[in-house]
Amino acid sequence: KVRVRFAPSPTGGLHLGGVRTVLFNYLFAKKHNGDFVLRIEDTDQTRYVDGAEQYILDCLKWCGITPDESPVAGGKYAPYRQSERKPIYREYAEKLVAEGHAYYAFDTPEELDAKRKELPNFQYGHAHRYELRNSLNLPLHEVEALLHANTPHVIRIKMPQDDTISFNDMIRGYVSFDTNQVDDKVLLKADGMPTYHLAVVVDDYLMKITHAFRGEEWLPSAPVHLLLWEYLGWKADMPEWAHLPLILKPDGHGKLSKRDGARLGFPVYAMNWLDKKTDELTPGFRELGFLPEAFLNLLAMLGWNDGSDQEIFSLDELIEKFSIERISKAGAKFDFEKAKWYNAEWIKRTAAEDLKVRVWEVLRSNGVNVTNEAYLLKIIDVVKERCVVLPDFYQQSAYFFQQPAQYDLASVKPKWTDPKTEYFNALVTAIAQLEVFEPAALETRFKALAEEKAIKVGDVMLPFRIMLVGGKFGPHVFDIAALLGESETIIRIEKALE
Ligand code: GLU
Repeated sequence: KVRVRFAPSPTGGLHLGGVRTVLFNYLFAKKHNGDFVLRIEDTDQTRYVDGAEQYILDCLKWCGITPDESPVAGGKYAPYRQSERKPIYREYAEKLVAEGHAYYAFDTPEELDAKRKELPNFQYGHAHRYELRNSLNLPLHEVEALLHANTPHVIRIKMPQDDTISFNDMIRGYVSFDTNQVDDKVLLKADGMPTYHLAVVVDDYLMKITHAFRGEEWLPSAPVHLLLWEYLGWKADMPEWAHLPLILKPDGHGKLSKRDGARLGFPVYAMNWLDKKTDELTPGFRELGFLPEAFLNLLAMLGWNDGSDQEIFSLDELIEKFSIERISKAGAKFDFEKAKWYNAEWIKRTAAEDLKVRVWEVLRSNGVNVTNEAYLLKIIDVVKERCVVLPDFYQQSAYFFQQPAQYDLASVKPKWTDPKTEYFNALVTAIAQLEVFEPAALETRFKALAEEKAIKVGDVMLPFRIMLVGGKFGPHVFDIAALLGESETIIRIEKALE
């Protein structure tokens, strides 16, 4: 049975790339009637951020993605939070030591740092393996004595020298690594907590994960993981790997970062993320008024397509059409304008009934009180194609519920004439005499009256709109009037003429 996992570390809000990883995991699982597991990888307590796990759960909920197994839902392989699995890992680390694939290392972080800095070609972020090997070469009796004296220590993997490690990635194909470029990563920390490298392998094995999707930034760790699968004797059960292409800055130069969002004025987080330490609020797609359907759709298209020109896909359709073969190796540029296009399309395609609660909330939070649901549904249908994000519903529909707060006088005042005043006075009377107050009848009467008064229809059309709406926007003006109703239309004309 197909089993996949999304394994976030609770270190902050979930950004675009994280949610895309969730999505691809989920699509693959559902496509193959498999299980989707959520596992919280919280073994690095220095990076643990309060609230981040809850954020991840809320985010999946907003997206409509329900894990089959998770810290909340439980499951056969519980617990699903690595910190709660702490006692499990030591045994495996010790086994690796006993079999000569790992070693106790007693160097303190300060010693290591000092040693690293002595290296003539030292550079942070580069593998400097050999300087870590002091402990590796300790004679056994010294190791035993140090352990006996309770000397703080970690367990490190012993990377083979002058070797090549390779595997077949589902997206990237054949990938290989020179073992000399990979340092002896810590597997078990001094406090007995495993590192990500050990925990991810042990848990993927114990949880019977068959396919592992993760961001390309994890590719450099793959050789460590591959060796662990082999050394622990589990190679036959190793999941198939898929390293997802990076999401790039809009100009294609480098990985999209949190800071790019702030700098370029668009969200990178799924939902608002409030950093409690700095009190800094980073905006999210949800709060900016994106629909989750649109958000998932646009994420799916960052690095995947179905081979046709189709761009709009529902979640069900994505499940049906998803295929790993169509995930590209190349990074995908993030384009916020395009993201908004997806949202506008989704707003257009979503039934008023399914938008009503959210639109009602947008209006309410702007002080517009809506009590008539049937009326709200009609208004949504008329204006939704003019809205890109949910808050646009305020500007596009508030005038249906209250008189315009402002009038675009600059557009009409300079061109105002007495015959226009006369025309609108006559229009009020004409409207009151209409048998049915509906768009076509109103339009016919509106135009006939213009002819009677020898005034150009075009000259009174815009003023009429501004009287009703306040500005130069909105759907067809006769549709607006019909929705407002006869008396409200008359009230607004009269008020404007005052
Ligand atoms: N805990 C890792 C992360 O935060 C998971 C990487 C993986 O899926 O193996 O992204």
